[in-house]
Amino acid sequence: MSSEKQVKEDLVEVGRRIYDRGYVAANDGNISVRISEDEILTTPTGVSKGFMEPDMMIKVNLEGEKLAGNLEPSSELKMHLEVYRVRPDVFAVLHAHPPAATAFAAAGQALDRPVLPEIIIALGDVPLARYGTPSTNEVPKSIRPHIKDHDAVLLENHGVLTLGTDLYKALFKMESIEHFAQISIYARMLGGEQELSSEEVEKLLQVRKKMNPGGRHPWG
Ligand SMILES: [Zn+2]
Repeated sequence: MSSEKQVKEDLVEVGRRIYDRGYVAANDGNISVRISEDEILTTPTGVSKGFMEPDMMIKVNLEGEKLAGNLEPSSELKMHLEVYRVRPDVFAVLHAHPPAATAFAAAGQALDRPVLPEIIIALGDVPLARYGTPSTNEVPKSIRPHIKDHDAVLLENHGVLTLGTDLYKALFKMESIEHFAQISIYARMLGGEQELSSEEVEKLLQVRKKMNPGGRHPWG
C-alpha cells in the first residue's frame, strides 16, 4: 500500500486533473482514499480541487470522526463512508460533476444502453441513484442499492460517483463515463445510438467476466 505522503500527493494530482478537465467548478467535488482498515484520507471542504496542497488533507475513521488535519472534510464524506462500509474491495472514491454525464443525471437518465464495447467491458451499465439532498443521509441511502454491484453511479440532479481499487482507477472510470456521455449525446443528435445486439453484448460480457471474475451481469 502507498505511503500516506504518496496518497496525499495523489489526491492533489487527481484533484488538479478533474479541475483542469472541467469535471468540477469552483470548490465542487470530493475525493477519498482508504489507507487502512479504518482510516481514510479525504479532501477538504471549501477548497478548489485544482488548488489543493498535500497538507490540506484530512484523516478520518469509518465513522467520519477526524483523526488528523487542520481543515474540515467535505459534507459529502457520508457518501464516501457508505461506499467503504459496503465495498471492502474499494480503496478510492471520487465524486465530480462532469458536464455531459451530469446532464444525463439532470435529465433523470441512466447511462445504460449497450453501445460501446469497451464501456460494456469496463463498466457495464451506469445506473441512476435517486435524488437525495446533498450532505444529508439521503445521499448514502440513495446510492446503497447501486454500489454493491456497480463501480460508477449517476446521482440524480447532481453528478457522478466512481469507485476504484485505487485512486487512478476511480479517475479513469470518471473519464470513461464522461467520454461515453459525450458520445451518447452526439449520437442522439445524429438520430440515436445503434444498440449492440444481445448476442454481441453476451460475447462482451464473457470478456468482462474473464477480466473481472465475480462481476455481475449488467443487464441480467
Ligand atoms: Zn457534488
